[in-house]
Amino acid sequence: MELESTLVFDRAVKLPCRRVKFIYINFSLRINPVSEGSCTVVWAVDHYDVFLCPHTEKGDFLALDLGGTNFRVLLVKVSDNGRQKVEMENQIYAIPEHLMRGSGTQLFDHIAECLANFMEKLGIKDRKLPLGFTFSFPCRQTKLDESLLVSWTKGFKCSSVEGHDVVALLRKAIRKRGDFDIDIVAVINDTVGTMMTCGYDDHNCEVGLIVGTGTNACYMEEMRHLETVEGDEGRMCVNMEWGAFGDNGELEDLRTEFEREIDCGSLNPGKQLFEKMISGMYMGELVQLILVKMAKEGYVFQGRVMSALAHPRTLQDLLRVLRELGLDPSPEDCAATQRVCQVVSTCAAHLCAATLASVLRQIRDNKATDRLRTTVGVDGSVYKNHPQFAQRMHRMVHRLVPDCDVRFLYSEDGSGMGAAMVTAVAYRLDMQHAE
Ligand code: BGC
Ligand code: MG
Repeated sequence: MELESTLVFDRAVKLPCRRVKFIYINFSLRINPVSEGSCTVVWAVDHYDVFLCPHTEKGDFLALDLGGTNFRVLLVKVSDNGRQKVEMENQIYAIPEHLMRGSGTQLFDHIAECLANFMEKLGIKDRKLPLGFTFSFPCRQTKLDESLLVSWTKGFKCSSVEGHDVVALLRKAIRKRGDFDIDIVAVINDTVGTMMTCGYDDHNCEVGLIVGTGTNACYMEEMRHLETVEGDEGRMCVNMEWGAFGDNGELEDLRTEFEREIDCGSLNPGKQLFEKMISGMYMGELVQLILVKMAKEGYVFQGRVMSALAHPRTLQDLLRVLRELGLDPSPEDCAATQRVCQVVSTCAAHLCAATLASVLRQIRDNKATDRLRTTVGVDGSVYKNHPQFAQRMHRMVHRLVPDCDVRFLYSEDGSGMGAAMVTAVAYRLDMQHAE
């Protein structure tokens, strides 16, 4: 499990990672249609640019954020008394496990119920507010307010949603209740929401990155490179769905037995293989599988120690966690466990850095500049809460693309806020159009 070897992306990026020696991966940034399982184009740049213009939005906007660690409902109030002010109220609701794998109808009924509860609480149930829906799963987006789920990820598996428009399903659930009405204006991916929110503060932001329950990124691509979209002028935001990288066999030489085991036991075997090497939903299980194997082979939890791991540190927290699991760990066991966690999370950070580096190189080449200055908006529970993930990823990005000055901008609530902001802009554009 030493971090000694190297992964090479198509344009000779080297990155220390895993046991395997030089592996060549053709990480192509060409845009494939969703049917090929890798990328979707979701948001036209003219909206993004408009979004970055002086803001004249005001009003109250609702947002739903589904697809991360938490399901959230948000009310975003934008006021403009000379200077624009944004205030936010939000509430986290649980999605019980049986609903994550039940029928689609039950799931959307539950979402509508949470929304009703939220509006009731804030006393806004009698208002028909515009709403943005952050739905963070691979989708085929057809319009700003129409998006067909391609396949569930991250432990969701509700029947009769794949292939359907999630906005229509939500509208139906709300109409069925009949106790409130809502104007669903936009549906977006969390990466896009994150890029948008960060773009509000930093106009250089042209990448959105999520490392949380799942992982994914979006970035601004030149229209002339987007074969599936008409027109050659300007740029467009591409939702890469990079969690699905590897689903066509690209990662076969790299995946370990542990990642294969996780995949086999998952709800979506053969899918989201890159995500399963990185994101928070799988990280803990990876550590567990490795420890189990080590224990079976007599390396841990039996008094036998690998020499490299025999440097006990003060590991009070770890000791407590292992004891709670009914184990009686020696100091060496704690050190070994810590080392496994470190290796797994470092690999994840470096893999993320590698894909991000190829995105940055693509942007740099698009701009035909020697030195790229850009900002990456980031959100997600792993990036936010893991004590070392962010730093390790940043470092590796700087090593892989030393000619890019990358600013990482953490976006608090970016995925949900982004939906409200996109909604606000779309709403304004609509009004202007109507005038
Ligand atoms: C989904 C993406 C999402 C990512 C992060 C993945 O499982 O397919 O759409 O952006 O998770 O939430
Ligand atoms: Mg999120």
